[in-house]
Amino acid sequence: MPLSRHLDAAADAAGGNGLGSYGRCTPRVIRPSRPRLGRRGDIVTQPKMNVESFNLDHRTVAAPYIRVADHKTLPKGDTITKFDVRFTQPNEAHLEMPAVHSLEHLFAEHSRNRSNDVIDFSPMGCQTGFYLILQGTPEIDDVMSLVEGTLTDITTATEVPAANETQCGWGANHSLEAAQEVARGFLAARDQWSTVTR
Ligand code: ZN
Repeated sequence: MPLSRHLDAAADAAGGNGLGSYGRCTPRVIRPSRPRLGRRGDIVTQPKMNVESFNLDHRTVAAPYIRVADHKTLPKGDTITKFDVRFTQPNEAHLEMPAVHSLEHLFAEHSRNRSNDVIDFSPMGCQTGFYLILQGTPEIDDVMSLVEGTLTDITTATEVPAANETQCGWGANHSLEAAQEVARGFLAARDQWSTVTR
């Protein structure tokens, strides 16, 4: 079932408004805030927000790319680094959910065969890429090698790890073939990964 229909069905089951047992009142309509986007670059004049990517002008990036999104130093002095691994051009194209989901499983498992520094690999809700979080402050070239090696491993995988109802929250929502096609496409653009802006 497509995600939208899945959510509609869940909403119907919860009483028709998607708010479950809390939703007996009139559903609230939440409209996204509308930053003033007169011309490219205007968004940087907006007040700085807490989330790094909310301060990124998505109109100026050039997917596919890999960039450092954020560093954090933890209370005991350890550092972690978050990378924006962007597969499709924001607001122009996105990945289908079964590909996103299977790529998440495949990368999470296979990357840890290559590195002990992987903390997390999670999809962006906009379905245009993933965040890769690594411990330390690795060199970007080493991160690109890790991504390249992991995606290469994925292209020859014979199954999606943990794609079942015991180990996953939506075990039917997977496609090995779609994930491999996305991986091959990203690998084919390897020489573009360092170019982050248009
Ligand atoms: Zn899953």
